[in-house]
Amino acid sequence: MKTLFEKIYDGEIPAEIHYRDELCCAFTDISPQAPVHILVVPRKPIPRVADAGKDDLEILGHLLLTAASVAKKLEIDETGYRIAINNGPDGGETVPHLHVHILGGRQMKWPPG
Ligand code: 5GP
Repeated sequence: MKTLFEKIYDGEIPAEIHYRDELCCAFTDISPQAPVHILVVPRKPIPRVADAGKDDLEILGHLLLTAASVAKKLEIDETGYRIAINNGPDGGETVPHLHVHILGGRQMKWPPG
């Protein structure tokens, strides 16, 4: 059975797509926590970082480079942005398909809640 984010990648569930290639796609979060809130999701349904292996090195690198490229496209590269990956219950993970959050367009706080 496909994950929610596989369905978005395959166009079965609508989303505002900002970038798509054979390894990943980037789309607007349905519940944005900042003026810019994008998810970068691999096509491969790796549940979370803790489940990634050495075979996934290219994908993991690609997600970060894509996040930087999408942030530039959305013109938050000069003001800055936060990249976050939630892993497991205490990390705040709610969708078990690896994704990188890009949050920008406002000042981020530290430490995060
Ligand atoms: P997590 O909490 O797992 O780190 O992040 C999951 C994110 O997916 C949340 O920010 C949530 O708002 C987003 N999300 C959940 N369902 C959908 C959906 O159907 N479409 C989109 N675009 N985002 C979703």
